[in-house]
Amino acid sequence: MKCKKCRNEKAITNLPAHNLALCRPCYSPWFLSNTKAAIDRFKLFNPADKILVAVSGGKDSLALWHALRQLGYEADGFYINLGIDHEAYSDKSLEASQKLAGQLGRPLHIIHVHDEVGSTIPEIQALTHRVPCSGCGLTKRHFMNKITADLGYDVIATGHNLDDEAATLMGNILHWQTEYLSRQGPVLDDRGGLKKKVKPFCFFTEKETTLYALVNRLDYIRDECPFSVGASSLFYKDILNRLEHGSAGTKRMFYSGFLKHKAAFQSIEPVPELKLCQTCGQPTTGDVCAFCRMADRVQEKKKLII
Ligand code: SF4
Ligand code: ZN
Repeated sequence: MKCKKCRNEKAITNLPAHNLALCRPCYSPWFLSNTKAAIDRFKLFNPADKILVAVSGGKDSLALWHALRQLGYEADGFYINLGIDHEAYSDKSLEASQKLAGQLGRPLHIIHVHDEVGSTIPEIQALTHRVPCSGCGLTKRHFMNKITADLGYDVIATGHNLDDEAATLMGNILHWQTEYLSRQGPVLDDRGGLKKKVKPFCFFTEKETTLYALVNRLDYIRDECPFSVGASSLFYKDILNRLEHGSAGTKRMFYSGFLKHKAAFQSIEPVPELKLCQTCGQPTTGDVCAFCRMADRVQEKKKLII
């Protein structure tokens, strides 16, 4: 099959949802122009903004950092070492992130959960009996906001792709979590000390972000986090992939249709008042934020063990 852009080279991918087939030289320009279109359409940031990209060493976040630099944005990296030792998962993901930072010539800010909380994510899970992703998500949200604010960045960007967003949407709808539905989308504006959060890749499928990483020879980690095994999001992704296989463009239609109707969920969900956590000073709805409460519980449990 020939590339439908240049009509010259052999296509390396067929994208039926876009009615497009692209060769290697045409792929990155197509990908970058669609990234820029999403940034402008949803007003994610402008060229003067300082962007912090949350990188995990995986294909999506590294591709995002690379793409934003290709587009000329002021984008630096932020890596949270979770202390997940399974086959040196955290070490390998840090190395991949540092390698790209070196290639891009941009700083990578690093924090270690163990240094900040006194325990790694697996230790927090063992001590608090929370499911690992719950403590991990809380920790990541806390530090992403804190570091973005402390280091003077305007916005934090994450590599969530269309598969992630459609799976989250499916979970939120199946459980009618209207509070989450009112907040889901490509952009969460800043308010009350919460920094602006954006997802420039939310209309690219995982296949499309992977191909960008491969075409640009990004050295990302292939291993998934061991705690992701059995996650309901993987089950939803599988269902959505089957739907997409039967009818190309289903994921995109599902997500963009939701965005058109999102205001209905926002109208029934009051926006909670935010105040500052008495312990860490980060925004929260209570007196002490959920992260500090979890960190306190970890310390109490550790004292009991000693
Ligand atoms: Fe954290 Fe769960 Fe993601 Fe692993 S799968 S990085 S534990 S949120
Ligand atoms: Zn706090």
